Amino acid sequence: MKKRIYSNVLSLSILTIVLIVITFVYTLNQSLRTQIKKEIQSESEFIAAACDLVEDTESFLRKIGNDMELRITWISRDGTILYDNQAAEDKMENHLLRPEIQEAIKEGTGTDIRDSKSLLLETYYYVTQLADGSFLRLACENKSVKQTFSKVFPLLLMIAAMILFFAALIAYRLSKSIVTVINEIDLKKPMENVPFHELLPLLGRLEHQNKRVKEQMANLLEQERKFNTITQNMNEGLILLDMDLRIIFMNNSCRRLFDTPGIEYTGKRIYQFNRSEAMQDTVKAALQGKSSSSELKMNEKQVQFFGNPVIEEERITGVVLFVLDITEKQKGERHRKEFSANVSHELKTPLTSILGYAELMKNQMVRPDDVPVFSGKIYEEAARLLTLVNDIIKISRLDEKDIHQSKELVDLYGMAKETVQELRQVAEKQSVQISLEGNKVIIIAVPQMIRDLIYNLCENAIKYNVENGKVNVRIYEEDGHPVLCVSDTGIGIPMKYQERIFERFYRIDKSHSKQTGGTGLGLSIVKHVVEYQGGYIELHSDEKGGTTITVHL
Ligand code: ADP
Repeated sequence: MKKRIYSNVLSLSILTIVLIVITFVYTLNQSLRTQIKKEIQSESEFIAAACDLVEDTESFLRKIGNDMELRITWISRDGTILYDNQAAEDKMENHLLRPEIQEAIKEGTGTDIRDSKSLLLETYYYVTQLADGSFLRLACENKSVKQTFSKVFPLLLMIAAMILFFAALIAYRLSKSIVTVINEIDLKKPMENVPFHELLPLLGRLEHQNKRVKEQMANLLEQERKFNTITQNMNEGLILLDMDLRIIFMNNSCRRLFDTPGIEYTGKRIYQFNRSEAMQDTVKAALQGKSSSSELKMNEKQVQFFGNPVIEEERITGVVLFVLDITEKQKGERHRKEFSANVSHELKTPLTSILGYAELMKNQMVRPDDVPVFSGKIYEEAARLLTLVNDIIKISRLDEKDIHQSKELVDLYGMAKETVQELRQVAEKQSVQISLEGNKVIIIAVPQMIRDLIYNLCENAIKYNVENGKVNVRIYEEDGHPVLCVSDTGIGIPMKYQERIFERFYRIDKSHSKQTGGTGLGLSIVKHVVEYQGGYIELHSDEKGGTTITVHL
């Protein structure tokens, strides 16, 4: 803009200077021309009058002609040059047809102005017809224009320089003030301070644009916020790739799944994040426009990739990858398979015994005295089978969260009291003393599940006890939460087994457990019930001091 102002002001100044010079030269020329005309006319009339009076015109003219600056030419009626004070007469051509002569023939006097060869010079001619019919012509070169112009030229130059200087100064000030004012415009609120009225439409448009940009930004931020809320809170990993397989977006869950929580992968290639064949296959298929999935095992985790192409205007522009953590699903499936195999195995043992005893009795291979013993064994095995089937049903229901009873207010202490009563006989049989401490503690739970929980813990404490051992059941509240603590003075659980005893069908000493009617599912049911209630279990045990299992509900 500055450049433009400078060039415009400069052009204007040059135009002004040129106009001044033209006007000056024209005016000067006009006034000098008038002056010379007057002078030449009066001189010519004066000499013509003198010529008419003298007898020898030629010698008179020659006499005055020598001293005169003006050019005097005496021309005969037929145009022949009779005398010229500045040129050789015989070399001059006939002047009859010259305009000033022609005019003088008609009017008595004639004038003409002719340009000289040099610039700013012209010659004025004035012709007077003498009484004898000849012509007297006076000519004068307008040298004064040139002289005057050359005199005033330095002044003109100075004026031009001054004009140029002031023009530059004005241009500088003008551009500076405009630029400063424009720079001071607050682009965020352009309409609050409008420096020039002329800027009003521009600033109005700017304000309108600002508003639109603001709205669009708010819209974009809202969209981004929604997108982030959804993607960062989902458990599945999400990766967006462009056609160069560069990561455009990756959510936190994905980084968590691959144990790279703090690393930023945006802009990097997918292979820098994961080089597995499973992922590469899924990405390749998506790039070819196919949806596919694959699984990948990583240490303890197992993930599944789902790849889909991103299609815009019938063109594949990228890839969306979903990553699912299927570790638990796989574990569950494995457990179910193991459980089914274990169930079949566990059911088979008592059934085989029952079948064996029954077969012996059927073939009358049992003495009549031994029949009660054999039928007793069949009864025991059948009872064990029933307990086993009941436990399997319970654990399957807990597994599937298939609980038919609804939660209600349960008195934990009252229920423990009932269970202790129930088991007192069993305890006495094994010379174990069972006691109960505590107060009424109310919880919200499924009564049957709590009954199973207390029963299993107390039964174990009796079963795995020593002669004259003790079992103590305590019900209390800790930080407002109900606690059930069953401690015994029994055989204890070696450290290496402590984690495993909550697994299904896990028994430390199989024969002892079988002897005491154990199914290996008791603690597994306890664990499920506590999980269902949202609590946790603490286990303290050593082979000398017995076992204490504390359940925080
Ligand atoms: P079981 O039906 O065999 O008792 P559980 O799941 O109840 O099955 O217990 C698993 C194993 O944990 C038992 O076989 C036993 O070896 C051990 N166990 C459970 N409770 C105790 C305890 N109070 N003292 C010692 N060992 C125990």
